[in-house]
Amino acid sequence: MIKKLYPTQYIQSIYEIDLLQLKKNGIRGIIFDIDNTLVPYDEVEPNTKIIDFFEMLRKNGFIITLVSNNTEDRVVKFNEKLKVFALHKSHKPLTRNFIKALRMMKCEKNEAIIVGDQIFTDVFGGNKAGIQTILVRPVSDKDEWKTKIKRGVERRIISKYEKYLEQNQYKGE
Ligand SMILES: [Mg+2]
Repeated sequence: MIKKLYPTQYIQSIYEIDLLQLKKNGIRGIIFDIDNTLVPYDEVEPNTKIIDFFEMLRKNGFIITLVSNNTEDRVVKFNEKLKVFALHKSHKPLTRNFIKALRMMKCEKNEAIIVGDQIFTDVFGGNKAGIQTILVRPVSDKDEWKTKIKRGVERRIISKYEKYLEQNQYKGE
């Protein structure tokens, strides 16, 4: 079923996340992918905009976990200044580390949301785990080769998803 590949929401960037709405929906924990969700995959450190954003999230009571498929080196270094929960080599779409992240944040499935740039890892994995997902546009055109080969298919799924949203809106009127 293609719906298993649909996110709960699709937005341009992490800065468009509607925090008030998340709070209203009882969300306390945010699980972020790193590469191309927060920064390009070849940027070692978070920029100040990310650092400030995370600080603001924390001040608003959100707990954060980074769940990445990248290496321990990459994730630990990236997290040095952020100091949030972080899991590397997650093998998304496997759900293991999403479930582990819930445990670390002491959240139930319906109290967390996953934010990522990839349908086949972040969104599909989140749907399998029963956690809501926010798909964001990749922050950079640069991808690792294994990601690059999936982008064409992803674009087709996103356009189907957008049509699906439109149709459902009309049904609701
Ligand atoms: Mg990514």
